[in-house]
Amino acid sequence: MKTKKSLAKEEAAPRLNFKTSWTYQPALESTAPARIAGRYELFIGGKFVAPAGGKYFPTINPATESKLSEVAEAGEKDVDQAVRAARAAKEGAWGRMPAKERGKYLFRIARMIQERSRELVVTETLDGGKPIRESRMVDIPLAANHFFYYAGWADKLEYAFPARRARPVGVAGQIIPWNFPLLMAAWKIAPALAAGNTVVLKPAETTPLSALKLAEIIQEADLPPGVVNVITGAGATGAALVAHPGIDKVAFTGSTEVGKNIQKAIAGSGKRCTLELGGKSAHIIFEDAALDQAVEGIVDGIFFNQGHVCCAGSRLFVQESVAKQVIRRLRDRMETLIVGDPLDKNTDIGAINSKPQLEKIESYVKAGLAEGASCYQPECALPKKGYFHRPVLFTDVAQSHRVSQEEIFGPVLAIQTFRTIEEVVEKANNTPYGLAGGVWSDKGAKVFSVTSQLRAGVVWANTYNKFDPTSPFGGYKESGLGREGGLHGLAPYLELS
Ligand code: ADP
Repeated sequence: MKTKKSLAKEEAAPRLNFKTSWTYQPALESTAPARIAGRYELFIGGKFVAPAGGKYFPTINPATESKLSEVAEAGEKDVDQAVRAARAAKEGAWGRMPAKERGKYLFRIARMIQERSRELVVTETLDGGKPIRESRMVDIPLAANHFFYYAGWADKLEYAFPARRARPVGVAGQIIPWNFPLLMAAWKIAPALAAGNTVVLKPAETTPLSALKLAEIIQEADLPPGVVNVITGAGATGAALVAHPGIDKVAFTGSTEVGKNIQKAIAGSGKRCTLELGGKSAHIIFEDAALDQAVEGIVDGIFFNQGHVCCAGSRLFVQESVAKQVIRRLRDRMETLIVGDPLDKNTDIGAINSKPQLEKIESYVKAGLAEGASCYQPECALPKKGYFHRPVLFTDVAQSHRVSQEEIFGPVLAIQTFRTIEEVVEKANNTPYGLAGGVWSDKGAKVFSVTSQLRAGVVWANTYNKFDPTSPFGGYKESGLGREGGLHGLAPYLELS
């Protein structure tokens, strides 16, 4: 327990000058392993085919603004072809295949992701702008783990749901965003196939490449044609997939706005739906927490990967007695963050995924200032080209400010203080969202009491952003519908009777 005197001493202590303590030499990953082709077609019925409309769109590297490749734009005809191929596979080879054999295909995909991991890691970083450290440590290994995990369930569904008959739902239309492109594809495809469904997947328009490489893996793994189809395009392609009468289930991860549109589009159609939407997740730091550990968790939760995480801890509530210290330590830590080339393994904050996203973040920073919040940013230099944003800390934030209410999806943290548990629970829950949260305290009873009062799908204690294929993930309120991961993630792909 820290006394008032020791806290005051700590406050007055000279600040470390991290900037001049050391610098790292650049440690750039080569782009060669990515092996990106000049053009990618649609993957329908086990083959790469040109789009009916003959249209292609570029995908660019947000860190350099240079074109990486061009990909096919799927129109309604292509969507129809893909759904038909998925239906034929469901009623054909895949539907008849013994569950144990299905599982073997999933194991094969998992192993092939591991074999091609370097290629996928570099591709993910080039196409999305995320730091290579994250692609290598999180995205690609977790994507393989999801296939491994669900491969194990394929022939054990009667144990997963005892005394119930589990049948596949049919054809799933799956739409994913740009923040974890391959991982989101794995989250969607692995449980669907383990449960015996077939799928049509649409990756985000700014990050289509890793899903297309996954299509190559699926082709090489020799899955029966049509079990997995990958169609590229923007919102109109996604909307055509959702509206297609041949799909039985929609699985969507993305913005709350599009999630609401999808719900409207399928209302009354009998299509099933799971939605993983936006968030405005809260960290709560109590005065008895290990503060350095908490600060590291906050930094990881909002600044690493540019805040491009649906469960980003974008709001921070600090107990008033330690607020000054926490803010100071956060600022010191922010000074050390390296913003820059995502291919450099030293980089903490890479490129913002697209120009519109960068503009959105900038407009929120302006809104925060206009509403009266105080803003702090470290003085780091940004690369001349590409979409980059320095991390931002807002203090003097009111509960009504847009920066503490709306999802920004960037490296922007809004801090408020609190005195009592009742106060912080009320403040943390006072948002339309409910995806995740983090509680930092040394007292187990306090942690359990607070986590059980938070209306959020996942609440971490004394850590943040930890993922595992066996744990369900999903939201309350406007953060979504249903769960992905674990046994919970299998259920939406099954008719249970
Ligand atoms: P974000 O704000 O994260 O870009 P979006 O919800 O706009 O999220 O995009 C997530 C995914 O949804 C992308 O693959 C995008 O192409 C797709 N999408 C966008 N609009 C629609 C729509 N009206 N119907 C279906 N899918 C859509």
